[in-house]
Amino acid sequence: MTLTNSNYFSQENNMKFFSASQFKSFLDCESMALAELKGEYQREKTTALLVGSYVDSYIEGTLDDFKLENPEIFLKNGGGLKADYKHAEYIIQRIERDSLFMQFLSGQKQVIKTGEIEGVPFKIKIDSYSEGKAITDLKVMRSFDREWQDGLKISFVEKWKYDLAMSIYQEIEGNKLPIFLAAVTKEKEPDLAIINIPQERLDVCLDIVKKHVKRFDDIKKGLVEPKRCESCDFCKSTKKLTQIISYEDIGE
Ligand SMILES: [Zn+2]
Repeated sequence: MTLTNSNYFSQENNMKFFSASQFKSFLDCESMALAELKGEYQREKTTALLVGSYVDSYIEGTLDDFKLENPEIFLKNGGGLKADYKHAEYIIQRIERDSLFMQFLSGQKQVIKTGEIEGVPFKIKIDSYSEGKAITDLKVMRSFDREWQDGLKISFVEKWKYDLAMSIYQEIEGNKLPIFLAAVTKEKEPDLAIINIPQERLDVCLDIVKKHVKRFDDIKKGLVEPKRCESCDFCKSTKKLTQIISYEDIGE
């Protein structure tokens, strides 16, 4: 079956193919990722996520469909867009004023490709594809501020594992094209950047994918039991108390 924009996210194709975000879910928590795939668990559809999707769908040229599919972005009684989505309109106007930003988003939109990593099928959907030249992904972020993680101040690229996602895109596309993120913030006055992810980093990330993908695939096939992280919302919601613990062992 050919993957199209309408069946790309179908349960059947999510079971058949890994996507970059699915792989990231498995890295976060195997049990949650599997429950999500089986339709037993759904992550919260937050306003923050929807604002990002609003901008995505505009760039993609599908904003009208997005508005039909997400009536909750409008005020009741035909009162127009809610404030968060009016701000999304402002973000769009801001990026349209920057010619370099728009240039990086001027490739073919939402290009779907499939391939394999370590013999495991993957699907990718590229935001802006300039064949033979570059792969660019649009990211709408809360801010560009770095955050502390394990004693290091990391960028949003590492925090959300976009470097890892893009290593999958590059591998599946197959021509080692340069990788860019066209990033804009949701701040009152949006900040924007075109970010390159260097090949050394992509190589390191692809090794991480190769190291884990067979186990994750075995979990999807039901051959291996998924591990629980015991700290995500899914694990908390399915936790069953079996023992009493000491006060010294509570929390991280
Ligand atoms: Zn978990």
